[in-house]
Order: sequence, then C-alpha cells, then structure tokens
Amino acid sequence: MGEEPQLPPIPAIGDVLDRKKSFVERKHSILKCGACQADYTRAFKPGDFVFKDLSDEECEKCHSRKLAVIEIYSEWINPKKEKKK
Ligand SMILES: [Zn+2]
Repeated sequence: MGEEPQLPPIPAIGDVLDRKKSFVERKHSILKCGACQADYTRAFKPGDFVFKDLSDEECEKCHSRKLAVIEIYSEWINPKKEKKK
C-alpha cells in the first residue's frame, strides 16, 4: 500500500549510445597496383581520394610505384577491443 508503481527498466538505448561513443572511425584506402594488379588495404592518409595516383608509394607486393586508390571506406572500431590483440 502506498507503494510507487514499479516502472519497467528502461530499455538499453543508453547502452547503445555509450557504445557508439566508445567507437572511433577508422578510414582505409584500397589500393590497386597497375604493375602486378594486386589490391590491398592500408590506412587512409590525408589527401587520399578515389582514383588518386600514389606515385610516392611503393606497392607492397612488387615495389613498383604504380599504385592508385580505388576505394575508400571507413569502419567503426572499438579501441579497447583492439588493444587486446
Ligand atoms: Zn605491385
């Protein structure tokens, strides 16, 4: 008697927001080599844009300087999880 009605626990919206805050955006560039046709991903560098020729970078595979950016993408990473590696 006289007790306040118990409210159901608030759903985990707060959790989701917290989780989002703890994530950082990590950008990657996908490079393609015009010499050996290899493509691979490396961390995005400022100034990268799709179809940019990277004449100052060597291909990881054949070490020629015929790389071009073919795609840029970003993903959300939890830095805390990454440190455990
Ligand atoms: Zn190559």
